[in-house]
Amino acid sequence: MSASPVLVQKFGGTSVSTPERREQVVEHVRRARADGYRVAIVVSAMGRRGDPYATDTLLDLLRSDGGPVAPDDYDLMFTCGEAISVAVMSQALKRAGIPAAGLTAAQARIYSDGAHLEANVEQIDTTRLNALLADGTVPVITGGQAVARASLDFTTLGRGGSDTSGVAVGVALGACRVEIFTDVDGVATADPRLVPDARIRSRVSCDSMYELARFGAKVVHPRALATGRTGRTPIVVRSTFSHSPGTLIADVEDEGPLVGLAALPPMDTVVLPVGATDAAMRKGWERSRLVMSIVDAERGTVLVGAADDKAAELRDALREAGHDPTQRLGRCCWLSVVGDAGALEEQHPRWMTRFAQEGLAVHAVERSGRRVTYVVPEAARTRAAELLHLAISR
Ligand code: ADP
Ligand code: ASP
Ligand code: MG
Repeated sequence: MSASPVLVQKFGGTSVSTPERREQVVEHVRRARADGYRVAIVVSAMGRRGDPYATDTLLDLLRSDGGPVAPDDYDLMFTCGEAISVAVMSQALKRAGIPAAGLTAAQARIYSDGAHLEANVEQIDTTRLNALLADGTVPVITGGQAVARASLDFTTLGRGGSDTSGVAVGVALGACRVEIFTDVDGVATADPRLVPDARIRSRVSCDSMYELARFGAKVVHPRALATGRTGRTPIVVRSTFSHSPGTLIADVEDEGPLVGLAALPPMDTVVLPVGATDAAMRKGWERSRLVMSIVDAERGTVLVGAADDKAAELRDALREAGHDPTQRLGRCCWLSVVGDAGALEEQHPRWMTRFAQEGLAVHAVERSGRRVTYVVPEAARTRAAELLHLAISR
């Protein structure tokens, strides 16, 4: 008889922030076990900035001492939030009569390339995890961290990296799927905080979701999606606070020609001449510094942007390019629509007409296969998002 399937469930920061919410987490684990799965869970640090053990609260403690924070200290502090969360969740499961074992990345044997702040998971030695699962115990694993193989130093996978941990553990364990539990019912046609009437999708293709995530749909981290696609492991995004089925992200057809709208946080944006950078350089910036860039082929410009806390990274990137900006646009919003290339081609002129009718300036447009990105002034964010979303929700 074959062993029962493995299910990995990842719970985000808000999902584990109060005793009542942790009860709901326990309930999801209990149900999955009752349905015949062997379950491992991955958890984020509890709550958001201001909550005592949230990642930002802990990092602020380091920053408040002044001066630059050394990457190894940053990573060590970062990992404390998830370690606390694991101990608390492991206790909650045990109290509910579910055998559990809390594990840091070192104990779970999740190994990285050793790069502080934005490490990659290189390998997971599943011996211990499999032994726990075989024994009917739920491994409760810290998200967002891995240890350098030789030194066992803690490294982190970047902000939002618990999604990547969840999927990497799922792939390593041969899980039938990874469930990303969060504070919304699934992947919506836009961030419901920006577009309140956004609709939850029942499914989204890996390619579309990757592009949405890259351009700001933070509901799943892009690297988690890349890991799931390579490992051929389906991902389901669902709510901790309901039993809604959520959104399946897999090798599936999208539900419609226009899939969704994504928005990056407002970014300080500058313009470079088109020859100032090449694709490899820009990919490197995005990967290591979260400095985003797009090419506006019609205007012959490259727009480069970074969120407020990445000002130094933006400066470094510009220095690397060896070109001074031809224009500084200040804080702008980068809004992207993802979907079928033909449908985007058809919609683009209509959107431009609507923007012009409403007097909304568009600083740049990148048309790139299954995505169109519009860079607009920060003040136009809500209205531009509304206009773009109208076509998606039809
Ligand atoms: P967690 O702490 O669970 O990882 P995140 O804050 O990282 O949660 O991600 C969940 C948030 O992602 C939601 O609260 C929502 O505001 C935001 N979000 C952005 N784009 C989307 C989208 N297309 N669909 C659903 N949520 C989205
Ligand atoms: N707690 C980490 C962060 O806030 C990792 C995560 O939540 O995914 O970035
Ligand atoms: Mg997240």
